[in-house]
Amino acid sequence: MTRTREHEELLLHGGTVHTLDDDRTTAGAVLFRDGLVEAVGDAADCRAVATDPETIDLDGRVVLPGFVDAHTHVFSVGIQRIETDLSTAVDREEALERLSANAEDTDPGEWVLGFGYDESTWPEGDREYLTREELDAVSESHPVVAYRVDGHTAGLNTAALERVSFDGVEDDVVVAGDRRTGRVVEEAVGRVRVAAHPDAAKLRRALAAAAERYHELGVTSVQTMAGLTSVRDHGNVRHEALHAARRAGELDLRVTYYAHASQAGSLSDLELSSAFGDDRLRVGGLKTFSDGSLGARTAKLHGEYADEPGEDGLMVNDGDRLESWFHEAARADQQIATHAIGGAAIDEVLDRYDAVREEYDDGVEPRLRIEHAELATDEAIERMADAGVVASVQPNFLKWSRPAGLYESRLGVDALAANNRYAEMLDAGVSVAFGSDKMPPGPLFGIHQAVTADHDTQRTTVDEALAAYTRGAAHAEFAEDEKGRLVPGLFGDAVVLDRDPYDGPDAVADCRVEATVLGGEVVYEAE
Ligand SMILES: [Zn+2]
Repeated sequence: MTRTREHEELLLHGGTVHTLDDDRTTAGAVLFRDGLVEAVGDAADCRAVATDPETIDLDGRVVLPGFVDAHTHVFSVGIQRIETDLSTAVDREEALERLSANAEDTDPGEWVLGFGYDESTWPEGDREYLTREELDAVSESHPVVAYRVDGHTAGLNTAALERVSFDGVEDDVVVAGDRRTGRVVEEAVGRVRVAAHPDAAKLRRALAAAAERYHELGVTSVQTMAGLTSVRDHGNVRHEALHAARRAGELDLRVTYYAHASQAGSLSDLELSSAFGDDRLRVGGLKTFSDGSLGARTAKLHGEYADEPGEDGLMVNDGDRLESWFHEAARADQQIATHAIGGAAIDEVLDRYDAVREEYDDGVEPRLRIEHAELATDEAIERMADAGVVASVQPNFLKWSRPAGLYESRLGVDALAANNRYAEMLDAGVSVAFGSDKMPPGPLFGIHQAVTADHDTQRTTVDEALAAYTRGAAHAEFAEDEKGRLVPGLFGDAVVLDRDPYDGPDAVADCRVEATVLGGEVVYEAE
């Protein structure tokens, strides 16, 4: 006979619970009830208030608040999981088999996509591009595309060729005689990318796949950022997928989304201010871009690129343009998250933030954010601290700050201590939120980078890194009273690790996620 429970309860006991509260209290047990943290203490304390809990013996393992990723692109994480990676296929047979497996899992009529094939690595004598006939053999009922690793050419099956309009770019569609070979190049590849962009149904599958991936990584909340391009000129298919998943009760991750600048006016017209939503899906605010990236030498620097003298990057949106969006956001008290990497871009964004801060309603803290903030100057760091601007930073980027890495090649050896200065930001009193930008998406990888950074300017303590990936990231989305700590009344979100990261960088390197708890329910358990 099953007993109906008065409450849904989960008790974790017999380990170390790091609450990450202000006093950094630790305890032996934590009780979740009806989705929230009910009690933290020793096992007896928790049992005393429990009625009939499901119980897990931690057996010495360690519990932390669920990680909060302050900057990611949740759909990209999912698409990578549900589509086909062709980059590691050793020959054409394997590439075609992987595409066939994807087709079998995909509803007829939906696109089947493969990324990164490189025929030049296949056995000699077998180094031809994938053909229309081969891709027809993968499926005739799905449009199939295999993008080559360089992104400048792709192979399509007949169904895919029929799905895309190549009007005006016919020269980029390769023919033999008068028959299309299935291979397209350059601008025709661009047409394929737009036509094959996932629809809401596929994006919901991507979302489910991303949630699964995030659970494996101990992440229970994400802040997902609009990218550079908007896919259609009205509405947003990604928001459509998020709302549909939430309505269906299928959103297994807490998601806060930051909308594309083209939608600044729409959000404000509806008076949608930041943090509107429920415990699963919320409006974060506006995402805008100021400069480009270091990789492309388009981050806007104060000086010039070491590997391209005379070049100092560019603003992808100038200050006036940014400020006009900022006014739209301020009109409805929306938070703004602006991508700024180079020192000059960061200064420009701080100036423009100063110009709109007064427009927020009295008593509203705008909590404006700078995304990346990689090359913030001393002065910019001071300004961020004084104005309460959040540094939304990605500690995994420190992997490029090692000797002979990207920062050294772009900016010179002197810049190695001058990027991603988390220790100095924290010293100055900047509120720091950690995220991944999904490169890669795992917090433990980023935390390890932060605690083993080469320079004092960058390196954080284990506690600082854990705090930035939990309570700091929660603060960045106005949710510090709901998540980021394990204290009664907050969301029952937690990660169970096999060892204690507070034991030091080596322990962090070896840490493994054993289980993830979302809203008091175990959503992931390692095998
Ligand atoms: Zn990003």
